[in-house]
Amino acid sequence: MAAEVPATRVALVTGAAQGIGEAIALQLADDGLDIALNDIPQKVDQLSAVAKVIEGKGRRALVVTGDVTVEEDVAAMVRKTAAELGALDVMVANAGIFLFKPLLDTSVDEWERMLAINGKGVFLSIKYAAKQMIEQGRGGRIICAASIAGLKGSQICGIYCASKFAVRGLVQSASQELKEYGITVNAYCPGFITTPMVALPGDETNGGTGATMKKLTKYPVEFGTVSQVACVVSYLAKPETAFVTGQSMILDGGLNMS
Ligand code: NAD
Repeated sequence: MAAEVPATRVALVTGAAQGIGEAIALQLADDGLDIALNDIPQKVDQLSAVAKVIEGKGRRALVVTGDVTVEEDVAAMVRKTAAELGALDVMVANAGIFLFKPLLDTSVDEWERMLAINGKGVFLSIKYAAKQMIEQGRGGRIICAASIAGLKGSQICGIYCASKFAVRGLVQSASQELKEYGITVNAYCPGFITTPMVALPGDETNGGTGATMKKLTKYPVEFGTVSQVACVVSYLAKPETAFVTGQSMILDGGLNMS
């Protein structure tokens, strides 16, 4: 289906209060999109601050708090975005958590929380965004946070790896299912990026955010930046990338190759 490109496109970014999600929201605003910002209700002040910056760029912004693991929350954030900003053209299923722990020390509760946020949250985000985009009939872009941990197992974060393998399975499957509607579905797979996610006790003495993890994992390349990830998402969100779907874009300083 040849998708018609509207004058102003609208994106919804989950986990947008900080880190990679915030950077993606700001980049997509710079690209000319209006932006709905989601994160958990406890982060409403951070979301409002991001919304202010987006409005300062001359774009519209909408805060839609909610938990991506709760089906009604995801349905409602998509509904509200379409009702108040006019449509949903780009869904960025970015919200996620990390756990730095070997499998043998991991509890069932930790497994269930990990798969709920990183797995079910992405499934629900794809499902409700796609339904809205199909109803609009003008195609769309769905872009999901995977990781290099979704390409290869690791001894330091086993259940995180499992959750990111799940994201790639969802992305590949949805890309096939949604092809006929002009909706592309892709993943971004960053290596370590400096955000609150990679903060560990001891960072202050080891040299800043991420320094302890870098030391413990002996990660062989520099950490990347949030703007480097936002730049890849910006590319995947473009109307011109209609021929790119089902892909997992790796950005890790050359550690893994596709
Ligand atoms: P972050 O912890 O800084 O931000 C994640 C955001 O997601 C937080 O604001 C958090 O409140 C939100 N979130 C968590 N659970 C949620 C829920 N149930 N509903 C709604 N929002 C929720 O992390 P980040 O580094 O910015 O990571 C963003 C994404 O990129 C994640 O999916 C992560 O797995 C992925 N990623 C990060 C790195 C990295 O090194 N930072 C590397 C690869 C992939």
